[in-house]
Amino acid sequence: MRAKKCSFCQASESQENPIISGDGVTICKACVLAAHKVMTGQEGADTPLLDMSQLSPKMLKSILDEYVIGQEEAKKVFATAVYNHYKRIFRQHEIEDDDSQISKSNVLLIGPTGSGKTLMAQTLAKYLDVPIAITDATSLTEAGYVGEDVENILTRLLQNAGGDLQKAQRGIVFIDEVDKIARLGENRSITRDVSGEGVQQALLKIVEGSQVNITPKGGRKHPQQEFSQMDTTNILFIAGGAFDGLEEIVARRVGKNVLGFTQDKRSTRQTRDLIHQLEPDDLISYGLIPELIGRLHVVTTLRELQTEDLVHILTEPRDALIKQYRKLFAMDGVKLTFEPEALEAVAEGAIKRKTGARGLRSIIEKVMLETMYELPELEGYEVVINQACVTGQEPPLYIKMTPTKKSA
Ligand code: ADP
Repeated sequence: MRAKKCSFCQASESQENPIISGDGVTICKACVLAAHKVMTGQEGADTPLLDMSQLSPKMLKSILDEYVIGQEEAKKVFATAVYNHYKRIFRQHEIEDDDSQISKSNVLLIGPTGSGKTLMAQTLAKYLDVPIAITDATSLTEAGYVGEDVENILTRLLQNAGGDLQKAQRGIVFIDEVDKIARLGENRSITRDVSGEGVQQALLKIVEGSQVNITPKGGRKHPQQEFSQMDTTNILFIAGGAFDGLEEIVARRVGKNVLGFTQDKRSTRQTRDLIHQLEPDDLISYGLIPELIGRLHVVTTLRELQTEDLVHILTEPRDALIKQYRKLFAMDGVKLTFEPEALEAVAEGAIKRKTGARGLRSIIEKVMLETMYELPELEGYEVVINQACVTGQEPPLYIKMTPTKKSA
């Protein structure tokens, strides 16, 4: 038997979304509920408007501060951009003269991998309770090539909004690694089979704010498939990328020689200063198409995290890794102590891997593996991790706690 489909939204029948059949038509539960809201004037009741009176850029920055270490400038710029975005959506009606439409400002975050770009976007999306879809530009293709159609990001956003189109239309789309879809120019020597330009063009269509046909279930488009329309006007697009070599382009333009740049502190500072002089033309030289740059009005940079930052990341944010492990241990009556040198060794290990804060978890997982295996039998012990444990030279120290120490 063929699965029933809703005549209104084309959803297939499921346990959560049963379908009622009428004379030649069918309707699913979601559409019945939506229709009920329209009929009773409660449209949008499930997706409450953000209470803008409770928000401010400073307040959003303070939320970011709880989770994102360092990156002060980027957090400030990003918090302001997100605030303005939602102010534009929810308060535009307050302006009487509706000729002056406030245009949308999408965001470009430039920073190395594992520096907190995705984390910033996720943190505010969660706080504001708006859906977010995260994708990697390298997985996208222009229609007709092997890979994912650009529109599938919107399908994912709709899914992450629990199928609520209104909510999805005010969501956030984060596209990482846009630098990898730069078109090949004089400055670039990467090899890829498809030029990124087509993908940039495809992205432009959804970023600039338009009605986009999406396939509610994702997958590739084919002529028999039904589409839903999604309006991307109020979706905040955030593009991220490391843009390796961008400083050289800026340097060339401003006439500075960056040859011989090394990783020492002075040159890192110089590089950062250069990035502050970034202009749209530099991004064009890098290989982004001008139309796309023209839609990414807010540009900010995140810096490469240093050992000290990574140690803070391990211990300070609300959901810091070490705090999580301590909790896990405490559940079994075990105390966990990381010596400061051990934390530094973990941070240095992540720096060596060049994965930013991304690499911290796997290093710790490796150090803790044996102990986690034995954990339920370690009740009443303190486990001490020192530097030698992190470098794999010694196993963790197990110290029997005296009852007073345990309750301390
Ligand atoms: P990217 O810059 O590549 O988007 P992410 O934001 O995805 O990096 O970071 C990966 C993980 O590393 C995050 O989930 C978070 O745990 C951690 N992380 C990265 N940067 C920071 C930061 N500045 N502060 C706190 N944690 C961070």
